[in-house]
Amino acid sequence: MKRKLRVRQAQTVLPFGVGAVLDVQGESFVAAGIERWPDLKTPVSSDRLATRLGVKGFFAAPHTLNDRYDKADRPGVPYVRFPGWLFCGSCRAMVRFLREHEKPGEPPVCTSCAAAPRLTPMRFVRICPDGHLDDVDWWYWAHSKLVPELRESCSESKHAWKARRLSFRVADRASGLEALSVRCEAIREGGKPCGAERDLLDVLGPQGGRCSGRNPWQHWDSRVSCGQQVHNVQRTAGNVYYPVVYSALDIPQTAEAPRAQRTMAEAVLDHGYWTNLIDALGTPRADVFRGMIKEDTDASDRLIDQLVAEATGAPAPPFPDRQESGKSGKIDLSRDEWYAFDAAQLPEATKEFAVRRSGLGLDGEKEEPWATLDAHIGGVVLADRLREVRALTGFRRHSPGGTLVPADTGGRLRWLPATEVYGEGIVLTLDEQRLTAWENDPRVRAHVRGVRTDLDASFRDEQLAETTGSELSPRFLLLHTVAHLLIRQLSFDSGYTTASLRERVYGRPEYGQHGLLIYTAAGDAEGTLGGLVRQGEAPHFAETLIRMLEAAAWCSADPLCAEHTGQGFGNLNRAACHACTLLPETSCQTGNTLLDRALVVGSARVPGYFTDVLTASRESAAAIAQG
Ligand SMILES: [Zn+2]
Ligand SMILES: [Zn+2]
Ligand SMILES: [Zn+2]
Ligand SMILES: [Zn+2]
Ligand SMILES: [Zn+2]
Repeated sequence: MKRKLRVRQAQTVLPFGVGAVLDVQGESFVAAGIERWPDLKTPVSSDRLATRLGVKGFFAAPHTLNDRYDKADRPGVPYVRFPGWLFCGSCRAMVRFLREHEKPGEPPVCTSCAAAPRLTPMRFVRICPDGHLDDVDWWYWAHSKLVPELRESCSESKHAWKARRLSFRVADRASGLEALSVRCEAIREGGKPCGAERDLLDVLGPQGGRCSGRNPWQHWDSRVSCGQQVHNVQRTAGNVYYPVVYSALDIPQTAEAPRAQRTMAEAVLDHGYWTNLIDALGTPRADVFRGMIKEDTDASDRLIDQLVAEATGAPAPPFPDRQESGKSGKIDLSRDEWYAFDAAQLPEATKEFAVRRSGLGLDGEKEEPWATLDAHIGGVVLADRLREVRALTGFRRHSPGGTLVPADTGGRLRWLPATEVYGEGIVLTLDEQRLTAWENDPRVRAHVRGVRTDLDASFRDEQLAETTGSELSPRFLLLHTVAHLLIRQLSFDSGYTTASLRERVYGRPEYGQHGLLIYTAAGDAEGTLGGLVRQGEAPHFAETLIRMLEAAAWCSADPLCAEHTGQGFGNLNRAACHACTLLPETSCQTGNTLLDRALVVGSARVPGYFTDVLTASRESAAAIAQG
């Protein structure tokens, strides 16, 4: 029977986008760069995202079953077999499986064994912080304990990368990696058996030897000279692949966007202090003007440098790399989305964007905790229909701070792989005045300053600034934590899995943001079923929020979790752990960092934005209990 290997179209961006290693029915592959994509592909439009990422457009894999490894002429996305080293579970022979050995529709089998059992991919691979990936050099591994002369006398040393006489052995006396070894069965010069062998006890972790400077789908001659240390890891390990994905919602052109219509450069050039800055260049006053322009426009130093150079005729500095932008150097995608959700007059419904104002249904409510809850909430907007485009710009390996490898590993294309999805969502905003007052509390400011210090010290600083804005604000931490708690509560109440819900935090004070969006986007053009929007309608939603706050006040890991002064990646979380706040990675914009329940429900050190609501809720529960 022929095997059938398939990847769905939506998976070609995430989780099996360019550079990802995937296991399919016992075989292992890596997704090749987009320079290898077929000509037939589906355009995906998102002008905002294209502008933001500096590309001409996007393409999705064609709407067909992506079974290209089985039918080479299929118009699907290319996946290449990786690792290239396989072994036979029966005779233990290791086989370097070359591209010319591939037979479409048939998994590799052992030709030495009569029963022709299927070959198994080796479990270990080699990565480096510059994003390269390769097979472990198993011939070298087996011979690595020999002196060079002896090593070179092995008859396989000339074509070590496809050595034919290696075997992958298991010893019964030992266990774990120590029980595994690679042995060379070749003949040495002079006719003696080579017999070089080394166990795998030290196979994981940093290794000597040079990085091959490429990814498996790249030709040998397009390798780069790479000076990074190589690390052996399991091919299924989390640090083999960190995709970098950007997404944008479609919003109508008519959406109210007072500042968004101008580019950042225009905003700088129109600024009242721009001419003062030019006149004061070279004096200390220039820094003052520059500071004020930056504060008002959110422009980066790099952009201002460039505009100054253009204005004064001095040579302009080289334009920043299109893939990696520094702090706020590019138009922020959240800005127009927020304007569309927060507009006094909501935009008219289109096929891609349909929103309506809702509420908690608590107007004029005198009873507690509802009256206090209502005072803390700005409003609720329900999105019956959203369209989201997700694009993969590239990936990193070894750590989230590794070098970005662009999805276009050939470096010649002006498009990126993307998918479009339709969905629905709930926008919750907080009361702006109350939020500002809470943010100005010195205890809140001191608390957030601590997180900001940890953020500045972490190498994710620049990456996270794309979401948080150039300076982390208390409201971002608050809104982000509420988004997580709300996703958990909605999933508890309504049967959505947490992985099917996503967040978008609108928490940048410089754009007047004070809300969040919880949405589900998995549908085609027909959209989703309206189940999430129903959860956001009155009167359920107010009850959901109260239950969410009650749940947030307690974690099974308390008091440890509640009193934490830095947990999670880079110590960027405070009172937030897997038991109370964290979400699947795909649901979160910041990789499960920058979370703190204390800012929501309060702690001994800091008042929470919703502390009063929680107190009111407990008091009314106590009053009911006392009759
Ligand atoms: Zn065999
Ligand atoms: Zn040998
Ligand atoms: Zn490398
Ligand atoms: Zn916790
Ligand atoms: Zn998150």
